[in-house]
Amino acid sequence: MVGYVSSRGGVPPCDFEQALLDGLAADGGLYLPETWPRLERDWLEDLRGASYQEVAATVLAPFVEGALTETELRGLIDRAYAGFDHVAVAPLRQLDANDWLLELFHGPTLAFKDIALQLLGHLFEHFLAKRGRSVTIVGATSGDTGAAAIEAFAGRERTTVVILHPHGRISEVQRRQMTTVAAANVHNIAIEGTFDDCQALVKAMFDDQPFRARLRLAAVNSINWARVAAQAVYYVTAGLALGAPWRRLAFAVPTGNFGDVYAGYAAAQIGLPIAQLIVGTNRNDILARFFATGRYRAGEVHPTMSPSMDIQVASNFERLLYDLCGRDGDQVRRLMAGFAQRGELSVPADGLGLARELFDAASADEEETAATMAEVLRATGELVDPHSAVGIRVGRQCRLDPATPLVCLATAHPAKFPEAVQRATGVRPSLPARLADLHQRAERFDVLPNDLCAVQNHIQRAVTAKA
Ligand SMILES: *Cc1c(COP(=O)(O)O)cnc(C)c1O
Repeated sequence: MVGYVSSRGGVPPCDFEQALLDGLAADGGLYLPETWPRLERDWLEDLRGASYQEVAATVLAPFVEGALTETELRGLIDRAYAGFDHVAVAPLRQLDANDWLLELFHGPTLAFKDIALQLLGHLFEHFLAKRGRSVTIVGATSGDTGAAAIEAFAGRERTTVVILHPHGRISEVQRRQMTTVAAANVHNIAIEGTFDDCQALVKAMFDDQPFRARLRLAAVNSINWARVAAQAVYYVTAGLALGAPWRRLAFAVPTGNFGDVYAGYAAAQIGLPIAQLIVGTNRNDILARFFATGRYRAGEVHPTMSPSMDIQVASNFERLLYDLCGRDGDQVRRLMAGFAQRGELSVPADGLGLARELFDAASADEEETAATMAEVLRATGELVDPHSAVGIRVGRQCRLDPATPLVCLATAHPAKFPEAVQRATGVRPSLPARLADLHQRAERFDVLPNDLCAVQNHIQRAVTAKA
């Protein structure tokens, strides 16, 4: 059975259920498996031709061992992916002789976050029912995460979902994807402030211990281990489709919080033969700078047309740091404390060398991203969204061997970012049929001032009304 430890080494190992429900470890660290389970070559071979759900059940089984039976796990997986609009869940599309696009946007909110969050919704419900408990999920969003969390938990019995977004500062498609969900357990709050104000309010609510305990606050942000595990699955399905375990692959991943590309690292650790993991950032390039210099230093956040990557502190990076420090939790704790103080940390040279064995990284500016969208349309007739375009651009720039298949992760449907896509290509992408009436649906949200007390009272009332 895989046990979970904290990247800061300050808590005893726990099981999958606790790592899932806690999210963050009590010492402020991130959970990771104590040892990596391995999918051996013949196991991978046996999976060739298997469905997404079958691969998911095999990849996830060792991570949930002891917490779920095989049958329970398979049932949760089947329900999680039943609502996707493509039977393959994460289909591959060919971009060039040896370049592929892995489409991760066939879930309900048109972004890759659905793949992990849909499963997380079912996992939460399962373990909460077992414990006879309910929770209040609270989060802040600048776009994609909030919608994916709302879709994952809407209508579930044991959760109330409260999502804060900055009033008037997110795109209309993104707002409507959250505010048109009719389920009674979903609450949207538009804060008169910025995304940072929303995040500060959420953090203050989690720091208010009596409030946190009374409402049983829970977080489903990208540091939850179960999200990483769920995302490792599509690296394996893409690998199998393109010749693994006998052929190595390169992946290009548009990156913000380092969650998605860390899932690729996890896939490599469990045995998928990955030749290269290419990290693509937009102008907010803390990660690209890290892989160039070994210095991880926060800068100012610049708004771009790939807003889900407008991040300067990549929360999942701490998981990689743990391995780069030889799995020494004390060292990670010291480095992160220094980072909290000075906004900067450096890994030892051998740590950087280790990271560079698998990772390459670069950033794409707005012009390069737009040019890539236009180029892909010209060459293939396909529209790609700005996030995916960052990955494609950097992937082609950093790939080492043209004979190794390059899989570029398409993290959002182009219709989620229609203005940016139209500006770059002259073509306005249309929403898929099941969302075609999004702009006619009724919206429901409350506008509140940027005031902790007002927000807490509002949430308290929402939860009490339900009980
Ligand atoms: C969240 C998001 C990303 C970044 O993913 P990370 O796991 O934070 O690196 C990229 N593209 C889209 C469309 C997203 O929603």
